[in-house]
Amino acid sequence: MHIVQPGMEIDVLKENGRIANENYRLMKSHGIKSVDFMGSIGAGKTALIIKLAEKLRAKGVRVCAIAGDVTGADDYGRFERSGLAAVNCNTGHECHLDANLVRKSLSKIDLDEYDVVFIENVGNLVCPADFALGTDYRVVVISTTEGDDMVRKHHDIFLHSDIAILNKIDIADAVGVDPKVIADDYRKLTGGLKEIYMCSARKDEGVDEILAALGL
Ligand code: MG
Ligand code: ZN
Repeated sequence: MHIVQPGMEIDVLKENGRIANENYRLMKSHGIKSVDFMGSIGAGKTALIIKLAEKLRAKGVRVCAIAGDVTGADDYGRFERSGLAAVNCNTGHECHLDANLVRKSLSKIDLDEYDVVFIENVGNLVCPADFALGTDYRVVVISTTEGDDMVRKHHDIFLHSDIAILNKIDIADAVGVDPKVIADDYRKLTGGLKEIYMCSARKDEGVDEILAALGL
């Protein structure tokens, strides 16, 4: 959806990169650590962010979220109801967040009031990979309900992210998925250098390990 004409893509991505650098410097100047959560609709990004934020708040860390969605305020509402301060960021029709949308959302946040900003990208495993937002970490979240072939089908997003997470491991058996297959594919894709993190955000399994991986 973001490629309009041949040749235009490079300019769009260059400009995005420039603004992403500004976002990064802006957040750093306020001592903020930030994470971009990418993944399909239904992977459990919102639930995972809520669980991570709960744990951080219990440690006295001040967290804010940006809820990226094409339309609506469902995830924003879930964040707010969980007690997590949030800004809603609708793309209108684009299937990914870009650095400019994040810049606008950051302008609505009093950055001195927070230590961490979690950004939930639009539910999509393809083009968010192309658009850096200026975060410290990019995370891809998949879930057992999506099948065991996600790594094989979406190399780009796994290679563009710092950390990969397999969510909903508590229901892997019920949906007939062997997490080991996914772990093997990920290890192979990353040349044996990286392991996928396994968790159940709802059951609070493996979530502390993700916080540690993010240095939080
Ligand atoms: Mg969500
Ligand atoms: Zn897109």
